[in-house]
Amino acid sequence: MTNLSAILDDIATEMAVETERGAVATYIPELAKVSPDHFGIAVVTRDGHIHSAGDAAMPFSIQSVSKVFTLSMALERLGEKCWRRVGREPSGDPFNSIVQLEADNGIPRNPLINAGAIVISDILLADRTPSATIERILAFIQMAADDAAISIDNAVACSERDTGERNMALAHFIRASGNLDHPADRTLEVYFNQCAIAMSCVQLAKAGRMFAFTQQFDPDVLAPITPQHARQVNALMLTCGHYDGSGEFASEVGLPGKSGVGGGILAIVPGIASIAVWSPGLNAVGNSHLGALALERLAHRMGWSVFGTT
Ligand code: GLU
Repeated sequence: MTNLSAILDDIATEMAVETERGAVATYIPELAKVSPDHFGIAVVTRDGHIHSAGDAAMPFSIQSVSKVFTLSMALERLGEKCWRRVGREPSGDPFNSIVQLEADNGIPRNPLINAGAIVISDILLADRTPSATIERILAFIQMAADDAAISIDNAVACSERDTGERNMALAHFIRASGNLDHPADRTLEVYFNQCAIAMSCVQLAKAGRMFAFTQQFDPDVLAPITPQHARQVNALMLTCGHYDGSGEFASEVGLPGKSGVGGGILAIVPGIASIAVWSPGLNAVGNSHLGALALERLAHRMGWSVFGTT
C-alpha cells in the first residue's frame, strides 16, 4: 500500500487541470456559492492509515451521503422491519422524483433516494423530538469518524428548508399514504439538518470505516453496525447510491458508493479501504463529475473492485 499516497497525489494533480468539471448544484442556493475548483480525496486503509491529497481537510456539505448513516441507525433500531416501509430496488428515476411514489403507494423504492431517506428520518424520529433526533444523528457520525468537531452547517439547513418544496411534496404524499408516523414538517426538520452536515474527506472516509471494517468497531464504544447491516448498506450503495447513474458508477468504478449533491462521494472497498472524494461540480444526473472520474482512476490503479481485479 506504499504507493497509495503517491497515486492520490497524481490523481489530485490530474484533476486540478481538468477543464470539464460539471456544474455546482444551484437548487439549494447555499450550495451554489461553492467554487467548482475544489478537489479533495482521502483513503483510510485497514491498518488505520489516512492517505489524502488536495482539499481533503476542507469541510463540504455531505447532503445525500448522510443517507447511508441514517439508514444504518434505522437498521440498528428497527432491523428488518425497515424493509416494510422502504424498498431495496433501484429507482431508475431522479433522486427527488414524485411520480414513482404514487405508483408504489407511498413506499419509496429505496432508502437512498429522497423519499426513502425521509421515511428513514421518520423511523429515527420515533419517541424523540426533531432536535434530539438530529443530535443523535450528528453524535453517531462524530463517533464513527472519531471527531467531535463535525457539525451542521446552519446556513445550508436554512437554505434547504427555504427551497424544499419538492421534499415537502414527497413527505406530505408519504404521510397521506400512511407511511409517515409524524407530521411532514417534523420529519423534514430531521432530513434537512442531516443533509446539511459538513464534513471533510478525511472525516467522511473515517466515518465510512463502519462499512469497510465492520468488526473493528467495539460494540460497547461505538453504536454498532452489524456485519449483516453493513453488507445491506453496501449492496444498496452499489445498486442505488448514484441516483439513476448507479449502473454506470458500478460498471466504471466497481465499488459501493454514495454520492451527494454537495459533490461528495463515499466509496467502500470491503475489508480494504474507505474512500471519500469531493469535487462540487456535478454531472447531468447529479453526481460529482471529477469525484467519479477520480474514483475510477484510483480503483483501476489500485486494482480495487468488488468484482475482482481486471
Ligand atoms: N438535501 C438534498 C435534497 O433533498 C439532497 C439531495 C442529494 O444529495 O441527493 O434535495
